Amino acid sequence: MQIGILKEPEDKRVSIIPDSVKLLIDAQNSVYVEKSAGEEAFYADSDYKDKGAEIVSREDVLSKSDLIISISPISKSELGKLKKSAVYISSFQPFVDEKITAVLSEVGITALSLDMIPRITLAQSMDILSSMASISGYKAVLMAGEYLPRYFPMLTTAAGSIPPAKILVLGAGVAGLQAIATARRLGAMVEAFDTRLAAKEEVHSLGAKFVEVEGAKDDKAAGGYAVEQTDDYKAKQKQLIADHAAKSDVIITTALLRGKPAPELITEEMVKNMKPGSVIVDLAAITGGNCALTEADKIVEKHHVTIIGLKDLSATVPLHASQLYSKNIMNYLKIFLKEGQIELDFEDEITKSSCIVHNGEIKYKS
Ligand code: NAD
Repeated sequence: MQIGILKEPEDKRVSIIPDSVKLLIDAQNSVYVEKSAGEEAFYADSDYKDKGAEIVSREDVLSKSDLIISISPISKSELGKLKKSAVYISSFQPFVDEKITAVLSEVGITALSLDMIPRITLAQSMDILSSMASISGYKAVLMAGEYLPRYFPMLTTAAGSIPPAKILVLGAGVAGLQAIATARRLGAMVEAFDTRLAAKEEVHSLGAKFVEVEGAKDDKAAGGYAVEQTDDYKAKQKQLIADHAAKSDVIITTALLRGKPAPELITEEMVKNMKPGSVIVDLAAITGGNCALTEADKIVEKHHVTIIGLKDLSATVPLHASQLYSKNIMNYLKIFLKEGQIELDFEDEITKSSCIVHNGEIKYKS
């Protein structure tokens, strides 16, 4: 099997790192790596060569590979350069990009979408969403610290005492929990809120306080994802968040709803009531943001509050993000890449959910 690794045009990360290349070659495959693919994540072409890869042009990766891997999907015109029999692994997000399955089907290839891997225990080691969310949660705290005009920890100095910063985390999933852990390590006082009650125990175990709104709708059938809440719940939640936001120095928001715009949790009024110099890091910026004043991919100052809406913070930690991404993909490949051949078994839950187009046939159901 000829495997091809593409360079990401707008991302410092790379999907497969040199150590994984060695494992692929040991498993009876040959690997093409696009020139400079790992350079911005500090994996040099020579590192890939040392592990047995061949460094080639983008054109060669596209037209000569049987299995192509990238983090972000390539353009429609580049899709046309792939072999008809090619299998392409990327993060196609079919629930966001409604046209993508039709485009892939027209090209006639097989597309495996990493973001469609189900949230089951068996698939945890393949879950790129969790790996990247965890990095984003960590980096959100560091970015907040950079813009905050005050310390995080409590300090007692000869020049006087400094109280700890108060951090409010909205959405205590993978990103939120990592943000809580990072903020705690830096000595801040942390409160967190989530509609999933299962998050309460995890928040407590990290030494943070759980802000609870009674009457949340939790749906086990949603596969670990949060569901939209009732109007009554939303009103109670809004009041409680307003009270806590006014006392916070930093708010980190991570609340996402799969396939839907992110819920608005911080209104303009709440921003106005925050202390001057406070910081909001909105990790939901990519799907509209949890704060009404977030501008996607920008850092803005509104009502003396800095609002950070940068879209993919995991890409700002490219070395470790690539390492984890690569490991996730290698674990995923174990399901169907056997002795240099791809064998897709549609009885397998992970394959069934993540294969969105098979030989041009659309498999994804919205
Ligand atoms: P996510 O990125 O979809 O959402 C982030 C968080 O925002 C979630 O905790 C969600 O409940 C919360 N949220 C949504 N709407 C909200 C609102 N209106 N107010 C407050 N909070 C709101 O979720 P995630 O972080 O990827 O994961 C959520 C859960 O799924 C976690 O418990 C995680 O451990 C689990 N998970 C399991 C697997 C697996 O088993 N393979 C993989 C990924 C996640």
